[in-house]
Amino acid sequence: MMIYGIAKESRERVHVTEAVNGGDFICALCRTKVIVVRRNNEPHHFRHHSGTRQAGGGGKTRLHEDAIDKIKELGELKLPNGEIIRFDKVDTGARLGRDVVPDAIGYVNERAYAIEIYVTHRVDEEKIAKLEQHNVDTVEVDLSHWYRACPSFSSPIGLEELLVKYAPRRWIVRRRRFPRLQRWWTRVTNRVLRNTRAKTGNYRAPKQLHLGI
Ligand SMILES: [Zn+2]
Repeated sequence: MMIYGIAKESRERVHVTEAVNGGDFICALCRTKVIVVRRNNEPHHFRHHSGTRQAGGGGKTRLHEDAIDKIKELGELKLPNGEIIRFDKVDTGARLGRDVVPDAIGYVNERAYAIEIYVTHRVDEEKIAKLEQHNVDTVEVDLSHWYRACPSFSSPIGLEELLVKYAPRRWIVRRRRFPRLQRWWTRVTNRVLRNTRAKTGNYRAPKQLHLGI
């Protein structure tokens, strides 16, 4: 279900809840016209205008791989805070330590940023835990809305702008400046939580301590 459209005039990303009925919107990926659908029995969304769909589509693997290749080709990425980072180099298929392979790793002055592309599945907890162990900033770029909604998802037309500009993104791991302090703190809070849980039957997930970047 497509919940973001691109306003044709301003080229801004618009959430469907803020879209004006009858406004001019296009799909970020295939650039064809989309219309706002508001019906009582389904969530509001954008739909491709009939007759304007492009043929083709290579499936999720294709979109995932195209996106990774495109990031390598561009050599830059917008971070969740809006800052655009220019990498000295981008590795794909490279291993971090012995046990984890992010979709891509960008390097700036020896500092690594892991990049994950979300097409059908978010990064799982196990992989997040490993990335945390490596203490590496990790960005997840979310292409899932467009993958599910756009029949031309292998089209390269909009992929670049999607990656550079429109796709939502979030930090799934932030590098910690004091990883040992962090581990100690996690142990302490987990112990407190365990004790609290044992006493009261309540459970809250442990919080991560952030000490800036
Ligand atoms: Zn489309």
